[in-house]
Amino acid sequence: MIKVGILGATGSVGQRFIQQLQNHPWFKLTELAASERSAGKSYHQAVKWFLDEPMPQSVKNMTVKPCDPTQLDCDLVFSGLDAEVAGEIEENFASHDFAVISNSKNHRFDTDVPLLIPEVNPDHINIINHQRKNRGYKKGFIVTNPNCSAIGLVIALKPLHDAFGVKRVFVTTMQALSGAGYPGVPSLDIIGNVIPFIGGEEPKIETETRKLLGDLKNNTFINSDMILSAHCNRVHVQDGHLECASIEFERKPGASDQEMVEAVKKTLAQFTAEPQKLKLPFAPQNPIHITEEENRPQPRADRNTDKGMAVTIGRIRPCNIFHVRFALLSHNTIRGAAGAAILNAELLYKKGFIG
Ligand code: NAP
Repeated sequence: MIKVGILGATGSVGQRFIQQLQNHPWFKLTELAASERSAGKSYHQAVKWFLDEPMPQSVKNMTVKPCDPTQLDCDLVFSGLDAEVAGEIEENFASHDFAVISNSKNHRFDTDVPLLIPEVNPDHINIINHQRKNRGYKKGFIVTNPNCSAIGLVIALKPLHDAFGVKRVFVTTMQALSGAGYPGVPSLDIIGNVIPFIGGEEPKIETETRKLLGDLKNNTFINSDMILSAHCNRVHVQDGHLECASIEFERKPGASDQEMVEAVKKTLAQFTAEPQKLKLPFAPQNPIHITEEENRPQPRADRNTDKGMAVTIGRIRPCNIFHVRFALLSHNTIRGAAGAAILNAELLYKKGFIG
């Protein structure tokens, strides 16, 4: 078993890590770390636990440690740290020989750090040896996962891009409250309301997608030249980001609109990739689940599809401006954060970068 720790274990993403790592076949949770405010306390005293499922018995009395690599006994850390502090702390852990699998934005655009979705760009992990050389890391490294809205969208775009070439994307998100962490958005701002602004979110979707769907050549990331326009909204939903996307292709799939819709549906439904081939424990059986019901996907009904790791897509139909439009739904703290990071770690373990 690989011993793992969680940095930011008391936060929204940290709690999901704890829940998702229970009974993992390869990873054993041995360390919890957070800020000086929490360090020294037992986990149940330090945390305001807000997941629906009860706190696992095994972590209740674990002592929360500070984010100090010399005090943690593990090989790999999952980071759910506040972005204010994540950058430096993660570098410190990597330089002390830890594999760092991060959810934070700080290192996503470093020229030697993979921004990874195992179904989309597994080959980008090959930059890790270059990263180690560059930074003088011996065994350690940093790998990041994308923003929670970008993940669902990019999983949908990947098979379409491979088949038809995606030229332009227009996407409007309706993002859940858990995406803002705890305590997050004040209740009086959001009850009975929608907020058409999430700081920094639109550029993240627009730029991260281009790195994810780009190439790695001679240790250099070459971004895709796809054009995206995103509108991000915070809505009164606990978990699950819903996104409405319109897509223009390089090559229209099929001669008629009906043929196009059928081709898009088939391409999405048949998509499988490296995690499915390797049978990684967290891989959904199918990364994309198609729903035919006219009023789906919906957050409450669809966010837990395939343990929260599948993206559900519905309402696939012709678009009057671009080629095709649809609605997609993904669980923001599972597929969009903790589950995504665990799948990244599984790929890295299987490929020999950990342990
Ligand atoms: P959160 O609920 O606010 O939790 C932040 C965590 O960081 C807490 O454990 C906190 O510990 C710790 N922390 C704060 N200051 C620290 C310091 N000076 N030193 C060490 N630890 C410190 O945030 P979150 O929503 O879980 O998000 C965590 C990260 O994941 C963010 O970078 C976020 O952008 C990213 N992310 C979030 C989501 C999502 O859906 N929520 C999705 C993808 C990515 P204390 O409790 O001790 O203060």
